Amino acid sequence: MTVLRARGLYKAYGKGDGLVRAVDGVDLDVGAGETVAVMGPSGCGKSTLLHLLGGLDRPSGGAVEVNGRRIDDIGENRLARMRRTDVGFVFQSFHLMEELTAVENVELSALLAGRSPRAARRRALDLLDQVGLADRVRFLPAALSGGQRQRVAIARALSNEPLIVFADEPTGNLDSAATMDVLQLFDRLHEAGQTLVIVTHDSRIAATADRLITMRDGAFVDETRLSGGTTGRLGALLGFEDR
Ligand code: ADP
Repeated sequence: MTVLRARGLYKAYGKGDGLVRAVDGVDLDVGAGETVAVMGPSGCGKSTLLHLLGGLDRPSGGAVEVNGRRIDDIGENRLARMRRTDVGFVFQSFHLMEELTAVENVELSALLAGRSPRAARRRALDLLDQVGLADRVRFLPAALSGGQRQRVAIARALSNEPLIVFADEPTGNLDSAATMDVLQLFDRLHEAGQTLVIVTHDSRIAATADRLITMRDGAFVDETRLSGGTTGRLGALLGFEDR
């Protein structure tokens, strides 16, 4: 089943001589449970594409469907509802609320998606446990390391049980050990059947995908089907300990 579809997706910034075709005619189908990695040089349109696919931004042309429903031409309220219930986002710079504790950050998405406070809290604690932060649930982001913050952000992205998780350079700000932790989390999500679309410079992350798409100048220039790695095998290959 296709959960994410784009047709003729186009996004331009500026006009006249300053026109930039950030995304220029992208067609994409992502099946349920599939992990797709998008790589390409800086400025080729990866973030813009992710924002269009997840309903954070509107295309200049073309169509996006999430779970069979168009999201490019719907009103702001319906789009906001779709974002709250159907998708989760993980960003390079975490985007946590600094004044909220880890558990409050995670439960917020579930509350916004309509869960009861009790159910939202239970799920948030469970997710923080799954990402290895059971002993940090009442810490503010400032008291956490970069890797721990990103694990909170991943738990947050999962708290509304999204159909699709989008990640934009999720390891871009992390050291090698924290990158491996995040890599293993994505691998586990993949194995659990979570649909994932990941923009990354990191070939270790990309190697865990089912499909690797290379982008250049706003368009897809190559698409490779991978066997879908396991972190352990990949880690061994790259000389990392299986942690
Ligand atoms: P990537 O994620 O691959 O680095 P981006 O999607 O961030 O690429 O950017 C693609 C192109 O669109 C770049 O040329 C960038 O300068 C331009 N761009 C992105 N966002 C904006 C914006 N808000 N206004 C104007 N130009 C933008």
